[in-house]
Amino acid sequence: MAALTPSRPRVEGADEFTVGTRFHRALGDGRIECTVCPRNCRLREGQRGLCFVRARHGDQIVLTSYGRSSGFCVDPVEKKPLNHFLPGTPVLSFGTAGCNLACRFCQNWDISKSREIDTLSSQADAVTLAATAKRLGCKSIAFTYNDPTVFLEYAADCADAARDAGLKAIAVSAGYINPPARRELYSHMDAANIDLKAFTEEFYKKIAFASLRTVLDTLEYLVHETDVWTEITTLLIPGHNDSDAEIAAEAAWIAEHLGPEVPLHFTAFHPDFKMRDVPPTPPSTLRRARRIALEAGLRFVYTGNVHDPDGQTTHCPGCGEALIVRDWYRIDRYAVSDSGHCTSCGARVPGVFEGPAGDWGPRRQPIRLAAPSVSQP
Ligand code: SF4
Repeated sequence: MAALTPSRPRVEGADEFTVGTRFHRALGDGRIECTVCPRNCRLREGQRGLCFVRARHGDQIVLTSYGRSSGFCVDPVEKKPLNHFLPGTPVLSFGTAGCNLACRFCQNWDISKSREIDTLSSQADAVTLAATAKRLGCKSIAFTYNDPTVFLEYAADCADAARDAGLKAIAVSAGYINPPARRELYSHMDAANIDLKAFTEEFYKKIAFASLRTVLDTLEYLVHETDVWTEITTLLIPGHNDSDAEIAAEAAWIAEHLGPEVPLHFTAFHPDFKMRDVPPTPPSTLRRARRIALEAGLRFVYTGNVHDPDGQTTHCPGCGEALIVRDWYRIDRYAVSDSGHCTSCGARVPGVFEGPAGDWGPRRQPIRLAAPSVSQP
């Protein structure tokens, strides 16, 4: 296998999975501040940030999980979810460990809250990863399961290798990131799905320990200042963020500040992590939210994690024809031209369309790229 850190200098006294970062600054009291996200963790020697994978090492902040992953999997792009980005195509997806949010309802907490870097039993250098994705017929690679904000340097190198191989790169993120790191991360990306976890500061503060304003800033940045194709996901949690008023306010903000053509996905919560006392989201809530968002003027609103062909169909923005009919991750009808136009009226469908739809379907295929890199107890 090639060196894991081909484009990153090794950090003296650290292992091969540790690389330097440029998002930090020294404070007058001897601490070093990580400036990647608004947590701005201020660390003394040996301390780790809230995300656990960034740490103080000497006079800098380092990333300690470069090249390591919780596992690789090929799955459909619709699972990210992205409905307007190379529909039907397979994506090589992976994550690492750690997260810079602390959501009580986390649906991936075994990965994102992992404080055991040794649970990252897979490893891959960026070039190997991109070559594997290409060999498997993937059109993209995706940073998902946990937030690429915290492993920015590894995500950037993998995205560059993917682009060199003719593939695209997708970030699935909560959008909780400071502007300089945001510019850096998304300059390497082609598409993003941003979790908009709710539409009140109170929810963000109490349930996610973050701030709504930062996420809205990230969305405005992506839509107005980059070419990154952006879709939004809101996980609806019964009794916490699913009121008619909150959904209407979110949809109205998207329509006004991002434009009505940005796709919005409403997905179903299942009891997990520190929110096992909350019931799963009923499909009727997803359908209600979709109706409210459509009434607010959004053109592409989808339901997820349920069988709901009506709520998962893309309609032509020109003539209203059902262009892409989906059932969960399976495409049952596709009437978009290779250049992304309605085959009935010729209207342009917002998104990234290159050639015919893929035929990957709903499959999920775990991939083993390398033997475990650490000895297990
Ligand atoms: S990226 Fe991690 S270490 Fe840096 S500020 Fe955010 S939580 Fe703290």
